Amino acid sequence: MAEPFRIKVVEPIRLISREERQRKIREAGYNVFGLVSDDVYIDLLTDSGTSAMSDNQWAGIILGDESYAGCRGFSHLEGAVRDVLGFNYVVPAHQGRAAERLLFQVVVKKGDVIPFNMPFDTTDACIRSLGGRPVNCVADIAYEPQAIDPFKGNIDLVKLRALITEVGAQRIPFIMLTITNNAGGGQPVAMSNLKAVKEVASEYNIPVFIDAARCAENAYFIQQREGGYQNKALAEIIREQFSYSDGCAFSCKKDPMANIGGLIGLNDEELYQKILPLLIAQEGFITYGGLAGRDLEAVARGLYEMTDDDLMANRIRQVEYLGERLDKAGIQIIKPVGGHAVFVDAAAFLPHIPQDYFPADTLAVELYVESGVRGVGLGALAFSIPDEETGEIIPPKMELLRLAIPRRVYTDRHMDVVAEGLKRVYERRNQVRGLRIMHAPPVLRHFLARLEPV
Ligand SMILES: *Cc1c(COP(=O)(O)O)cnc(C)c1O
Repeated sequence: MAEPFRIKVVEPIRLISREERQRKIREAGYNVFGLVSDDVYIDLLTDSGTSAMSDNQWAGIILGDESYAGCRGFSHLEGAVRDVLGFNYVVPAHQGRAAERLLFQVVVKKGDVIPFNMPFDTTDACIRSLGGRPVNCVADIAYEPQAIDPFKGNIDLVKLRALITEVGAQRIPFIMLTITNNAGGGQPVAMSNLKAVKEVASEYNIPVFIDAARCAENAYFIQQREGGYQNKALAEIIREQFSYSDGCAFSCKKDPMANIGGLIGLNDEELYQKILPLLIAQEGFITYGGLAGRDLEAVARGLYEMTDDDLMANRIRQVEYLGERLDKAGIQIIKPVGGHAVFVDAAAFLPHIPQDYFPADTLAVELYVESGVRGVGLGALAFSIPDEETGEIIPPKMELLRLAIPRRVYTDRHMDVVAEGLKRVYERRNQVRGLRIMHAPPVLRHFLARLEPV
């Protein structure tokens, strides 16, 4: 099936010359975050806030009610969160990280431990800044890029139980599942795993929260891969996922296809009430939370749109299409292909570049120079953390180039350009040299670092 939409508005893009690209990336400190978008031809930096909104979402933008208190958009958002996610209370926030910060400030204390499948980078940083420690409990198969498994985002229940026994349930304020598992390659979590985690958590009276940015993509994989879900609508599966949780933090810049927006969904009124004063102090009044009224409309409409079975099938097909093209060219990618992005195994692509010289980020730079395509390196530059006891820097297990695909934005021909560019880099991979840091802040350094070729 072709795209279940037609295109009504277009935005011109342009490919600058190779010489210009070489100059631009040098001026950007060999960091793709330093590029201006006019110098990028196909932008796969992120699928966050970069999707194309529908005519219905744009209509909501015009209809937006900008009242400070009690705007119509908030009522629409409440309705959408109740219908689509199944939560009674909604805390609006300007994006996902603001939503999670509001939640974590209330529930995380110094010395707390939070089991995750894997935390997203801002989520990890936020918990650490509050004195908590996120712990990966993802199943080991998540670290094997070539291992085919339908649900590589699952929590390993043995690891989870061992962690609870080791630190004690009183030090665990909640368990969090990221669906899909962004940091682990956009891999899904099975419904059976969501259910089992909830059961373990209930034994110890620990709440479960979902980091829900791609809950609809996750539901699609459940529909396609998990027994008993083939004939269920995406909408029904999405709701069932949340029934095994006590709440969610949600970046609405992902599956709901809004350009900005986030929220917390909850059923616990007491927790909701505790968040409200922080919401007012940090984001804005409780019915707009740092968003314009029009943005609330776009988010509310997007929440319904993300439940469209055909739209989701088409989106995932395009991501798979890019993955298949790379796979056929012999380029190692994380398999199966995740929901929102293709993750290229940069360590396998550039085996001669040691992790200290950032193969993932090097590959991102090379792809930009080759074809004007912007992906992002997710490896030692982004995810190295000092060991708590020894202070020794521990690099992550994988070096990945992420090619994140915005929803409804690019065609398969754009994907062909991406694949061809990467194939050309692959042919000359032996000549590619790594990068080293000139300047970088101590945390979240991949966003701000300036690098130079080795
Ligand atoms: C994007 C994202 C966030 C943070 O949301 P923002 O809207 O970018 O602030 C949190 N968790 C996951 C899994 C994400 O993908």
